[in-house]
Amino acid sequence: MRDSSARTDVPTLLVKIFGKDRPGITAGLFDVLAGFGLDVVDIEQVVTRGRLVLCALVTHPAQGQATEGEVRATVHRWAESMKLDAEILSGVGDNRPRAEGRSHVTVLGHPLTARSTSAIAARIADCGGNIDRVFRLAKYPVTAVEFAVSGVATEPLRTALAAEAHQRGVDIAVVSAGLHRRAQRLVVMDVDSTLIQDEVIELFAAHAGCAEKVAAVTAAAMRGELDFEQSLHARVALLKGLDARVVDKVRQEVRLTPGARTLIRTLKRLGYQVGVVSGGFTQVTDDLRVRLGLDFAAANTLEVVDGRLTGRVVGELVDRAGKARILARFAAEAGVPLAQTVAVGDGANDLDMLNTAGLGVAFNAKPVVREAAHTAVNFPFLDTVLYLLGITREEVEAADLVDGA
Ligand SMILES: [Mg+2]
Repeated sequence: MRDSSARTDVPTLLVKIFGKDRPGITAGLFDVLAGFGLDVVDIEQVVTRGRLVLCALVTHPAQGQATEGEVRATVHRWAESMKLDAEILSGVGDNRPRAEGRSHVTVLGHPLTARSTSAIAARIADCGGNIDRVFRLAKYPVTAVEFAVSGVATEPLRTALAAEAHQRGVDIAVVSAGLHRRAQRLVVMDVDSTLIQDEVIELFAAHAGCAEKVAAVTAAAMRGELDFEQSLHARVALLKGLDARVVDKVRQEVRLTPGARTLIRTLKRLGYQVGVVSGGFTQVTDDLRVRLGLDFAAANTLEVVDGRLTGRVVGELVDRAGKARILARFAAEAGVPLAQTVAVGDGANDLDMLNTAGLGVAFNAKPVVREAAHTAVNFPFLDTVLYLLGITREEVEAADLVDGA
């Protein structure tokens, strides 16, 4: 074995430095250690509210060159001169290898309470998991932290934490760790009440003077109480005779969900492909596709004859099964395995799609959807989906700055 420090019987020193952070501390410490010809095995450093914790795991001074006591005395002298605290622990070997079964656990809270954090950490421990690392992904619009957990399989951890999340009123996503998380992916979103705040058919219905009738059918369908296909035909039939020029008005009335532009812009910069699939209408999704620079869009098409809606839809029916089928088609066209796709939706007709995707995110969804999806976001900001993918707020803002957005 070339890497002798990985051997468990080789003596090593763990040097921990605490104190007020400022430039030059890391350089200073390693300059002191260099005086003894020591090699670096590992370095970890965090700064929280201006206070530094720097841990350096280094080889033990070689026999004859210097004693451990001399290293200790010199490091302490340097730390004192810098008004820092130092702790030096002798031992053997490197860090213990992380256990098998590794997951990323993202927790979103608004606020994230100490009580929730305690409960989540306790549940991880109960499952046999160990928290190896923790860091903050975002403080805005929610507090998002990520735990790197090992020692427990992803599925049972996800199940245990889903129950805890529900009880605590926080959102938790559990995904397995590994290279696939960094691989290029495809994100496919539902449109109505996901990418946009509206239900498009209700906007049409307002112009047709049948808003209340349509809203009642939509709500029942989204609760899963009505067959989606029947309810779609029933609602579209109510629009019969409506002037097709209303399409332009509806396009202008559509309100994007907060964070939608940030989400799409960031995903595109990272090389993701992004699409929408909607039980609504191509008359609106095609416009969104152009406006937002989406790669894919699919929806039902309202039939128009002689400048008026006929009350029928034409083309491929996009219902619950259709959404899952279209996700698979987009993935094939994008050259992305299904395991590397992310689907986001709020309605019962999104469930097959959410379960077909590698990661299914229920977005401000009805309980029936929330309970069946891999993970749920219950904050009305679409950009929180970025945190579930391990992208930090800092990275989003830095990219915006570079592009002058
Ligand atoms: Mg929806």
